[in-house]
Amino acid sequence: MPTRHTVTAMPRDFDPRAALDHLARGARRERLVHVRHLPRREAEQVPWPEWVDPGVYAAWSGAGVTHLWSHQAQLAELARAGRHTVCATGTASGKSLGFLVPVLTALAEGSHAPTGRGATALYLAPTKALAADQLARLEAMSVPGVRSAVYDGDTPTDERRWIRDHAHYVLSNPDLLHHALLPGHAQWAPFLRALRYVVVDECHVYRGVFGAHVSAVLRRLLRVAARYGSRPTVLFASATIAAPESLAEALIGAPVTAITHDGSPREATTFALWEPPLDGEDSRRSAVSESATLLADLVLHDVQTVAFARSRVGVEAVAAATRRDLTGVDPSLAPRVAAYRGGYLPEERRELERSLRERELLGLAATSALELGIDIAGLDAVLVAGWPGTRASLWQQAGRAGRSGTPSLAVLVAADDPLDTYLVHHPEAIFAAPVEASVFDPANPHVLTPHLAAAAAELPLTEADTEWFGPTVPQLAESLVAGGVLRRRPAGWFWARPDRASDHVELRGIGRTVRIVESRTGRVLGTVDQARADSAVHTGAVYLHQGQPHVVTELDLADAAAHVVAGDPGWSTQARSTSEFRILHTARQHQWGPATLSWGAVEVTHQVTSFLRRLPTGEVIGEHPLDLPRRTLSTMAVWWTLPEDELALAGVGEADIPGALHAAEHASIGLLPLIATCDRWDIGGVSTALHADTGLPTVLVYDGHPGGAGFAEQGFHRAIEWLTATLDTVRSCECSSGCPSCVQSPKCGNGNEPLSKSGALRTLAHLLSAG
Ligand SMILES: [Zn+2]
Ligand SMILES: [Zn+2]
Repeated sequence: MPTRHTVTAMPRDFDPRAALDHLARGARRERLVHVRHLPRREAEQVPWPEWVDPGVYAAWSGAGVTHLWSHQAQLAELARAGRHTVCATGTASGKSLGFLVPVLTALAEGSHAPTGRGATALYLAPTKALAADQLARLEAMSVPGVRSAVYDGDTPTDERRWIRDHAHYVLSNPDLLHHALLPGHAQWAPFLRALRYVVVDECHVYRGVFGAHVSAVLRRLLRVAARYGSRPTVLFASATIAAPESLAEALIGAPVTAITHDGSPREATTFALWEPPLDGEDSRRSAVSESATLLADLVLHDVQTVAFARSRVGVEAVAAATRRDLTGVDPSLAPRVAAYRGGYLPEERRELERSLRERELLGLAATSALELGIDIAGLDAVLVAGWPGTRASLWQQAGRAGRSGTPSLAVLVAADDPLDTYLVHHPEAIFAAPVEASVFDPANPHVLTPHLAAAAAELPLTEADTEWFGPTVPQLAESLVAGGVLRRRPAGWFWARPDRASDHVELRGIGRTVRIVESRTGRVLGTVDQARADSAVHTGAVYLHQGQPHVVTELDLADAAAHVVAGDPGWSTQARSTSEFRILHTARQHQWGPATLSWGAVEVTHQVTSFLRRLPTGEVIGEHPLDLPRRTLSTMAVWWTLPEDELALAGVGEADIPGALHAAEHASIGLLPLIATCDRWDIGGVSTALHADTGLPTVLVYDGHPGGAGFAEQGFHRAIEWLTATLDTVRSCECSSGCPSCVQSPKCGNGNEPLSKSGALRTLAHLLSAG
């Protein structure tokens, strides 16, 4: 390999198929499971609308944008006509310009009003980095008469006042809306009175419980704005997802028009699905190690590549292993691979962009495209180490490759779990299926009730507020009266407490968190959700913080703190727990021959009872009892039953039933994210050979959040698709008696015992034969 120090920005030829052939050379050929060629798409250009503000037009046409793509123009026209609209087109399809044309035009027109602020707009991004990035792009265009500013948790107090009183375009996030803008709306009165547009960017990330929270916050915003006499038009930008209008409608509770036809050009992409080899009878090489090998190979061949890993630890591991591999072959290349740490200052990000643009950096590892907040379009190849959770994220990551006129390469490297296994062997689930619908339940009373309390603190609640929050308002408000939170008066329900209502609601997750405190220094290393604390940071647990082992010396539940000391004791720990459930109410039921499939409300009781110490070889060196409370969760679940004699007919004997059901439960939890936008940590499961409420062998999968998040409901409605995928995954796994790619679960409270892979196969096949 020749040593290269020359940095060149010259366009070069890149042949993705040749690069892929090289990666899959020799014995590696069998790891390449599928290749899909996505053809080039031509641009559909249309002229700018007549009504665009001359300053806006001048800014963009000056930068060479003399036409709009068809979806941008469509979004601009619908927005101009005052229609709530969602634009769900691909990564880098210029959705921002689509909403900026009408928004900036209205702001510029309004700047001629006597107040200087005849129109205002609010832009909401899920992360601070994204809002900062939007502002940087806007400032680069400098549209005359429009004052824009980021308003987030870091904005100094005096600047906040200036923004409230003078800014036309405020870029913020839902958290700030909830904690600052809405509770202090009186100070925002002039801004809200003129509010013409609300832009909700990257709206596909608002799903599950977080989606329900953001929905309540947006409805609170629209309600408060209405009090000041404005009815803003809401513009959503989304990744390509199935039925974007239903997501957007759930977010604001009003009809939304969807734009899904993408008029932007796209270069051809060669998309490969890659499965790392088995490295033992029942385990597979990790996606991280395999991706590092591929990244080193690509960098050696001067292919500029970004590798996305699921966690920070994974990112560091990919970069370190790649540099190690390169050092052995061509030491000059090792420094040209970097890990993206996150939390960069703007000038550091610009420097990173520059070193990528000038090809000083050839390899970059990062956690997610959204987090990057940097413009790195124009790379040759993208590696995705492990399914990123949703098809929308996959396309967003893959979209980081490819520059004008050159095809690109994207490779999804499967991780060792059931969903990844299924996907690489079922390319149609990635390429043909509409991307998953985002699901959440805006009426979840566990989420909505505290937001109604916050809404009442903003403006007294009345019966008329069903317009914003749905028909359950009176009932939930009365429950708040009973709890002493609200007071009923003739004019409505009033906030009755001395403290701030919004302080009682956390948007990102329900419930309390447990702090992880370093004993020696008192420093808080991080937090874990209380729901996960008992099993992750119990006394004696070995807890990995950013890849470094720590031992928990004490879990203090009263103080919500886990005290830890750094150090590797030479073993890992695994919590053991018991789970039970009661069926409270069956909402829907299907009969599949002898099997019954149900969806409804349940109460799950969970208790962590002990933990195991394991050597790196997997050998157990002891079990230690724990004294932790029983936790109950009221939530929604999907469950199925099959009588014992039917299981016998399927060839599952009495002794095999617990292992068969348990293995089927694990695999089905692993596959639910295929149809409901969640990850396996958002859901849980319980299986039992005989359940008191059903009187039968029963497998239950539940939403891990109080009141449910809509995942189990999706499982019920699409049960055949879900369980068929589960069966296919277990059937196609090459392991002998069960592995993490099929029926083992990393979060099992029973140490993955008992598990019967063959029993699960027979059970699922029998269940589906009548479905
Ligand atoms: Zn397996
Ligand atoms: Zn289990």
